[in-house]
Amino acid sequence: MMNFLSSRKIIHIDMDAFYASVEQRDFPEYRGKPLVVGGKPNSRGVVATCSYEARQYGIHSAMSCAKAHQCCPHAIFVPPRFTAYKQVSQQIHAVFRNHTTRIEPLSLDEAYLDVTSIDSATKLAKSIKREILKQTGIVASAGVSYNKFLAKIASDYRKPDGLFVVTPAQGTQFAETLPVGKFYGIGKVTEAKMNKLNIFTGADLKKYSKIALQQYFGKMGLVYYQMARGIDNREVVSHRTRKSLGSETTFATDIGNIEAIQKYLQALSSEVAESLKQKDLLARTITIKVKYANFEQVTRSQTFKEPINEQQVMMWGARELLKQTEVSVRKIRLIGIKASNLVSTMVFNEQPRQLSLFSLQIPVD
Ligand SMILES: [Mg+2]
Repeated sequence: MMNFLSSRKIIHIDMDAFYASVEQRDFPEYRGKPLVVGGKPNSRGVVATCSYEARQYGIHSAMSCAKAHQCCPHAIFVPPRFTAYKQVSQQIHAVFRNHTTRIEPLSLDEAYLDVTSIDSATKLAKSIKREILKQTGIVASAGVSYNKFLAKIASDYRKPDGLFVVTPAQGTQFAETLPVGKFYGIGKVTEAKMNKLNIFTGADLKKYSKIALQQYFGKMGLVYYQMARGIDNREVVSHRTRKSLGSETTFATDIGNIEAIQKYLQALSSEVAESLKQKDLLARTITIKVKYANFEQVTRSQTFKEPINEQQVMMWGARELLKQTEVSVRKIRLIGIKASNLVSTMVFNEQPRQLSLFSLQIPVD
C-alpha cells in the first residue's frame, strides 16, 4: 500500500559499537579484543557499549558488568570518555550538514536525515559512510527508506558497516517479516502483551483491525496498525530550528465573552496538540497570549513536570492561565497559545526504561 507521504527519503545513520570503537581507535592495544565500556567488572554498573569481539561472548549493552565479566573473564573493562565521544559526534554532524539541514539527532551517534530533495539517497548514504570513516576513523551503518521507522530498522539490518535500503515497493512486505519488538514504540511490556495475543511479527499484527488494536493499546494502536503496513508519517524534526509551536487568532471584532474565548482557545490548542503529535514532539511549557482591545498584550506560561501533547491537558493548563489575565473584565482582540521547551517523544519515552535499568547513569549508545 502506498501512502501520500511515501515520496520522502530518509537516511538513518548509526555508528557501530560507538563508545567501544572510539576506545579501540584511540588505544591500539584494545583492537581485536573483547572490550567493555561501562563500569568495573565487579561493580554494580552496566555495559554502555561493548566491542564486536565482546559480543561474541554474549555480552551486550545494558547487561550488568558483573555478568559481562562472567561471560568473558578476559574482557577489558574501561570507563567511558564522553569528551572523546562528543568530539566524534560533532564531526559526524559536520558531515551531515554538508548534505542536508534536516537532521534529527537521536543520541550522540545516531541521527535521521531527511534527504527527500536528493536524487539518490542510497548513493548519498554511501558517501556519508565514507566521509565519516575518513573524518573520524570510525565505521557507521546506514539505513535508507521512505520513513523513519523503516530507515532505523534498515541501519541495524546489516551491522556492522551496513547499508540497507527498503524501497516503498518493499516496505509493506518488509514490515510483515519484522518481529514486533523492533517496531517503534514497542518496548518489552507491549511486546509481551502482543505475544499473549499471538502477535509476534508484523504479519500477525496485520490480522488485527484498527479498532481492535486501539482497544488493546489505546492511541498507540493506530501507530502499530500503520507500522504493520510500512506506514510512518513522522517528520524529521531538526531541534535547532524548532523551538516552539503555536497558533493564534485575531478577531474581526473584540470579544468580551469568556465562553467564546475559551472556544477559540479550545480550537487553537487542538491545532497545536495535533501539530506536536504529527512532529513526534512533546512540550514542557505552554504559554497563552492575550491582546486586549487597547493593544496591550500579556503572556502567561506554565511548565509541566512531564512534557505533554494531549489537547485536554493543554486546554486544562490554558484555562488556568486564562484566569491569570483580565479576560473576564476586558475585551480582547487576539488570543494565542504556544507550546515550547520541546522534546522528541522518542527520546522521552526511552528514558524511563533506561534509567530503571541503570545503576550507573551511562546512556546506551
Ligand atoms: Mg550506535
